[in-house]
Amino acid sequence: MKKIALFLLLVLLLSGCQAPQAAQVAATTLPVYEFTSRLCQGAGIAVARLVTEPVSCLHDYSLGVAQLRTLERAELVVISGAGLEDFLPLEAAEEVLDASRGIELLPGPDGEPDPHIWLSPACARQMSQNICDGLCARYPAQKSVFRDNLASLLSDLTALEDYGREALAPLAQKGILPFHDGFSYFARDFGLNVLASIEEESGSEAPAALLIQLSGIVEAENLPAIFVEVNGSDAAAGIISRETGVPIFSLDMAMAGDSYFDALYRDIDTIREAYT
Ligand SMILES: [Zn+2]
Repeated sequence: MKKIALFLLLVLLLSGCQAPQAAQVAATTLPVYEFTSRLCQGAGIAVARLVTEPVSCLHDYSLGVAQLRTLERAELVVISGAGLEDFLPLEAAEEVLDASRGIELLPGPDGEPDPHIWLSPACARQMSQNICDGLCARYPAQKSVFRDNLASLLSDLTALEDYGREALAPLAQKGILPFHDGFSYFARDFGLNVLASIEEESGSEAPAALLIQLSGIVEAENLPAIFVEVNGSDAAAGIISRETGVPIFSLDMAMAGDSYFDALYRDIDTIREAYT
């Protein structure tokens, strides 16, 4: 009996070695997943992404069973932070790495901190630095790998920032009207001015008074375009576009899809094209 038990244990151990490696690190959203994956390149650490659906942003999001299991099994869970993941059962995680640490947060429309920090390349650099620090503390043997990867990641984020500064310089302090309250940090980095914070609830209709107010802004500021978010609601924007005759363009919150950098470069190009 003992021998059989020992044999079974051996089989279990051996098959465990051959099974695909479970993720050691899990990251919640595309930006923190992409930063973490790049930092872990060549370090032999598996990184999983929790949110993979085509969401516009994380408001009203809830985890499925498989995602919850990934969260529970990970040694380290990287979050974007600043309240974005308030919906997550983070107490189930072994260790949480908050990428927003030390970032000066802007107030959101309801007075709560605005969590959309990743849309600022400057904040994204701080997030990457924070993630690198957390990885170094958790896996000290791979410190030099993380730090080499960090240097390349930071330089890519600086190149993104330089590209946006140059592309959007002719629009200095121009007003933009995005139909999500997510572009404050982006606008601050690139010298734009968000004219109104609109937090459109999906599935609910925008009140008539708000539509009139927004149409008034479009006309008073002589805006050439308004912006909805990819995967977001465009009901109110559609009404305002018909009312004022201005076209609608889509901006990407970089929550879905598979490249943070592609999304941000596209957003910069979209705004420039919409305004020229
Ligand atoms: Zn959002």
